[in-house]
Amino acid sequence: MKFYIKTYGCQMNLRDSDSAAALLIEHGFTPAEGEADADLVILNTCSVRDQAERKAIGKLGFLGKLKRERPWMIFGIMGCMAQSRGTELLKSIRHLDFAIGTDQIHRIPEIVEQIAAKHEKTASFDRASAETPGIDSHRFDGAESPHSAFVSIMRGCSRYCSYCIVPFVRGPERSRPMDSILAECRTLAAHGVPEIFLLGQNVSAYGLDNTAPPPDDAPSPFGELLKGIAAIDGVRRIRFTSPHPAYFTQALIDAFTQTDKVCKYVHLPLQSGSDRILKLMNRPYDTAKYLSITDRLRAAAPGISFSTDVIVGFPTETEADFQATRALMDRVGFDNAFIFKYSPRKGTRSAQMPDDVPQEVKEERNQILLADLERRAEAANKKLVGQTFELLVEGPSKRNSARWSGRTETFKQAVFTPDPAHPVQCGDFVRVKIVRSTATTLYGELIPAEKTN
Ligand code: SF4
Repeated sequence: MKFYIKTYGCQMNLRDSDSAAALLIEHGFTPAEGEADADLVILNTCSVRDQAERKAIGKLGFLGKLKRERPWMIFGIMGCMAQSRGTELLKSIRHLDFAIGTDQIHRIPEIVEQIAAKHEKTASFDRASAETPGIDSHRFDGAESPHSAFVSIMRGCSRYCSYCIVPFVRGPERSRPMDSILAECRTLAAHGVPEIFLLGQNVSAYGLDNTAPPPDDAPSPFGELLKGIAAIDGVRRIRFTSPHPAYFTQALIDAFTQTDKVCKYVHLPLQSGSDRILKLMNRPYDTAKYLSITDRLRAAAPGISFSTDVIVGFPTETEADFQATRALMDRVGFDNAFIFKYSPRKGTRSAQMPDDVPQEVKEERNQILLADLERRAEAANKKLVGQTFELLVEGPSKRNSARWSGRTETFKQAVFTPDPAHPVQCGDFVRVKIVRSTATTLYGELIPAEKTN
């Protein structure tokens, strides 16, 4: 049976899709190019924003047409929307065969085999421990990009930020045992994957499941995990997303800055630069704490780069609150930011607050932050012209396949023209000298003699 998985949403979903694909392949299924040549189509859904849910439901409607043309096809949903609305969708969408929750990925092959035999709709939403079967399954069949692999280190979230639906759909925090994560990283390294990308809703709370934020001088299990992975031969770069500022202790700052293989780039969600709004968001830190983290990181790792998440138009956000966010973003000098216009999610605490910032004001604030960001990124990238960086090669550039593309340690994308005398491939490390830049891309010249592997 041929399968196709379409993924919506975050990196956690990408990782879950990859592990579902690996499990299906282990059970004799084969990957299809797309929906049209698949016998099994699974949508891995997202609930973070209403728009993401609407997209997946629209897609499910479209898949009904395929079912009429190819009646043997099986359709399923997994991910956050499946967890929260699976029962309702199974009832209302005739051609939908199964819905499984975020902790039930390991059951997909068995469920599909049952449906193929008995044609009965199936649902499975139980919670499981962090170490669910298949959480460490990866595809090594050439379909996966070999230069980097996601590794889930924990499931769920217990922070209950007032706007966020994740704790309700992904359940409470559950950290995987460190030995198991290290074993998975060793396997990846043995398969030639040089970069490990650690994933969790709140990675800085790894090993501290369901506890209140620790004092700044507390030990950091996540810092210990970073050191453990760095000790593995073959691992050359370690990245992670997303840490929570309230769990970013001095011990984590030390582990981060003193462990060479940990890339000097942090995506640290800010959400707002107003202490009043942070309180309403149930984010247990203030802007002073946030700045103390970024300042300490920058002092210990001067070339570090930061990105963040920000919500504009949270209930009661005034112009002064917004300007505080703008000023703080400028002060930190983020290289990138994901800016979201607030929209209430049913069942969350903020959904009970008045959504009182007009849509056009949200849009205007969004555009202002995007313009700030572009201006800053353009100026920051210009300063890099003339400097030399090591790139992890990711493959041919999407815009111009004569060029290749890679990432610097600080997660900046750089493109270069390969030297035919020294062919490069995905997963190679090369050095380039930056000759020009835009807000989003660095353009470099390859230094062939210094190809580093
Ligand atoms: S930390 Fe907050 S925003 Fe992030 S997943 Fe958990 S509840 Fe949601």
